Amino acid sequence: MQKQRLVILGAGESGVGTAILGKKQGYDVFVSDKSVVKEHYKNVLNQFQIEWEEQQHTKAKLFNADVVMKSPGIPDTIPLVKELKVKGIAVISEIEFAVQFTNATIVGITGSNGKTTTTMLTHHVLKQGELNVGVAGNMGDSFAKQVAAQSYDTYVLELSSFQLDGIIDFKPHIAIITNITPDHLDRYDYKFENYIASKFRIAMNQTESDFLIYDADDEVVVEGLKTHKVKSTLIPFSLTKKLENGAYIKDKNIILTIQNKTITMPTDSLALEGQHNVKNAMAASAVAQLLNIRKQTIRESMSGFQGVEHRLEKVLKIQNVQYINDSKATNINATYYALESMTTQTVWIVGGVDKGNDYADLLPLVHEKVKAIVCLGVDNSKIIESFGRVADLMVETTSMDEAVKMAHKIAEKGDNVLLSPACASFDLFENYEERGKQFKAAVRNL
Ligand code: ADP
Repeated sequence: MQKQRLVILGAGESGVGTAILGKKQGYDVFVSDKSVVKEHYKNVLNQFQIEWEEQQHTKAKLFNADVVMKSPGIPDTIPLVKELKVKGIAVISEIEFAVQFTNATIVGITGSNGKTTTTMLTHHVLKQGELNVGVAGNMGDSFAKQVAAQSYDTYVLELSSFQLDGIIDFKPHIAIITNITPDHLDRYDYKFENYIASKFRIAMNQTESDFLIYDADDEVVVEGLKTHKVKSTLIPFSLTKKLENGAYIKDKNIILTIQNKTITMPTDSLALEGQHNVKNAMAASAVAQLLNIRKQTIRESMSGFQGVEHRLEKVLKIQNVQYINDSKATNINATYYALESMTTQTVWIVGGVDKGNDYADLLPLVHEKVKAIVCLGVDNSKIIESFGRVADLMVETTSMDEAVKMAHKIAEKGDNVLLSPACASFDLFENYEERGKQFKAAVRNL
């Protein structure tokens, strides 16, 4: 029989991982990237004797594909992808391709904020519970590569809406929707409902024997459950209402009940601070409970978790001022929770590339908790205009070093200095990781 031809668009982590898995599964594999391929990935492709090209898409080598795996960074709207689809060639995502080759139990996590944190936390508790569990998404080896090289029984997968757009049969046994707020709308025709629909694809193939864990305080999610066909067994969590089934708060305890089994956990024992992290802990604990992890292990895991870099990461305490790196906060919702979790007066470093922010939601928190705003961006006019009236002190800076020095000058004993930009980083930094790293270096240099 002739080999099936697998064409891969994009030679990044998911593309190269899919190529390795495809090759192992006996496909005729070709990888095509419009940009320059990173040296490391070139070497891997060569090592596995996989044919590839860069800085071009040679149509003759693409249109004979049986199936195309498109990397999540490539929009559906580019002519090449449209043409492939017109020709009737299936264009799928990495998870759709890879999941066919594993029998592992899949936990899929999506949402606008909190995906990585919840993914890491879930992986941590399942690992502590001694499951043979892998993790993939925004970090480390791709899911496809792990399916090729490992033999995990369970996977915890962080899933972006772009990954979900490219699924056909993919079905996680347990799904989480952390929350839905407008993001990436440029890829969704500027229609929020399209982005919501994309998130709900995580549950579209689930049946009654699968589970969907979700934030019952999030009106968009609750509304979405009515408008999208969801058969899954629902497990809600809430900070505000009592739930007989799912997780809620009573007297500063998380009460989590699933299938008549209840576990109680004091919120002040949780390793990660902030209301949003109580929710993340509820979601992760629900997964653990469903997978029969012991209650004691769940409690210990939630209190012992080390946190994730660039997400409310405590860097150093200098002269009794706590420096906190929340560089990953690239939108208002993430920064909202960061400010909310501040228990003392805060010097707030904010700014960058604004993706259409409406700062109104932050005004009460800024008024209550922020003693000074240090703007860090090329264009700070919108921030100055939005907060000019509530902030006692505002300064503009143009480098991380300058911003941190300025914050250090302003902060007094007992204060926090919080980098939570509410904006993308591309004006002054390569990405949010670089921004966070520069922050930490500047703090260590004080
Ligand atoms: P994602 O992977 O979805 O981008 P992260 O876990 O990397 O999410 O967190 C992104 C930002 O959102 C961080 O600033 C983090 O503190 C904040 N955050 C984490 N969990 C939540 C949540 N449940 N709701 C809102 N913001 C959150």
